[in-house]
Amino acid sequence: MKNAIIIRYCEIHLKGKNKSFFERLLIEAIQKSLKDIKHSFKAINTRYLIEDYDEADYSLILSKLLKICGIHTISPAKVVESNFENIKECAIEVTKNKVGEFKVNTNRADKKFPMHSVELSSEIGAVLLEKYEPNIKVNVINPQFVVNIDIRESGETLVYTDVIKGLGGLPVGSSGKGMLMISGGIDSPVAGFMLAKRGMRLEAVHFHSYPYTSEAALDKVKTLAQMVSEYSGGLKLHIVKFTHIQEEIHKKCPEDLMITMMRRFMMRIAERIGKENGCQAIITGESLGQVASQTIESITTSNAVVTLPMLRPLIAFDKLEIIEISNKIGTYETSILPYEDCCTVFLPKFPATKPKMEVVLKAEKALDVDALIDEALQNVEVVTY
Ligand code: ATP
Ligand code: MG
Repeated sequence: MKNAIIIRYCEIHLKGKNKSFFERLLIEAIQKSLKDIKHSFKAINTRYLIEDYDEADYSLILSKLLKICGIHTISPAKVVESNFENIKECAIEVTKNKVGEFKVNTNRADKKFPMHSVELSSEIGAVLLEKYEPNIKVNVINPQFVVNIDIRESGETLVYTDVIKGLGGLPVGSSGKGMLMISGGIDSPVAGFMLAKRGMRLEAVHFHSYPYTSEAALDKVKTLAQMVSEYSGGLKLHIVKFTHIQEEIHKKCPEDLMITMMRRFMMRIAERIGKENGCQAIITGESLGQVASQTIESITTSNAVVTLPMLRPLIAFDKLEIIEISNKIGTYETSILPYEDCCTVFLPKFPATKPKMEVVLKAEKALDVDALIDEALQNVEVVTY
């Protein structure tokens, strides 16, 4: 009896002629994520099988698989050569800690196997009852767990009960590449995760205002970027020094437009770096109405400076809903560490919540926009995860 892990995908089934493209990306993602762990990998029809790993590595492998976009479900299983005695042993093993109502479900792809599926299911069910009653009881209509027996054409049988939900979504790389604007907050790492889950490769850009913002604040962003990279199969973080631009805006523009102007610069720079690196979209963690810079009027004035599509997966989410995902992906505790952000440094007392485009354009005339952007792009630090 050998251990194995069954991996299933879902939406890839829908992709018709492109199926092999999606499958290849998913296989690559799995192999990359398990590259430092001893195992063997096998594709069987529309599923994958991880075998020959050390049992001590099971939890580690599972935790890695749970971060791979495009995996629908995962089942730890037992594998044996197909015969009744072997299957019986496996069924006894996978049921040993179970309590509740169950049924046995057999799928007999190997038509040479001497027993029919219904017959095998009922015999294995009887064996399990005899062994584990009264902890378990048969209920074929509405069972609490199912002992699955999968008799494969290869002459091997897989036996399993547990079905663990994976991330779902699409394999990273199947939906192009996006430039994530990442701050140290709760929202942007969640936004990046959500688009990775829809198949986007990611790069990220962060603006900091050293020395107004600290080294620790930057380290926090690097940690968050690294965490997001675990879902996006790696990530390149571009760190842009924003201090001079902020000082210029602060000196030369109306105070209430500080945030509006800053955001227009951020967007332009994100787009420049994005285009240079093959990104097809810009991703932000904006949520409608959450703060002054996220009213529809503010979004309109910042959106106007870019041509790439702006993806805002959190636009209709409440803060609590975002926090829930943040907890799920493991970024929340880091996001709430109390470090200053570049946007808080020059925060005006009364930021414009409904900036008017013509007023913004007029105010911006006081600045040499292109020169400031070129200067910021001169020394961008790049960290690869
Ligand atoms: P977050 O929780 O992601 O920080 P927020 O609620 O603080 O978001 P804002 O500060 O208005 O909201 O930022 C909106 C979005 O703009 C962020 O989600 C992020 O995508 C981007 N952004 C904000 N600050 C920065 C920054 N310093 N560097 C890069 N992107 C930023
Ligand atoms: Mg923020």
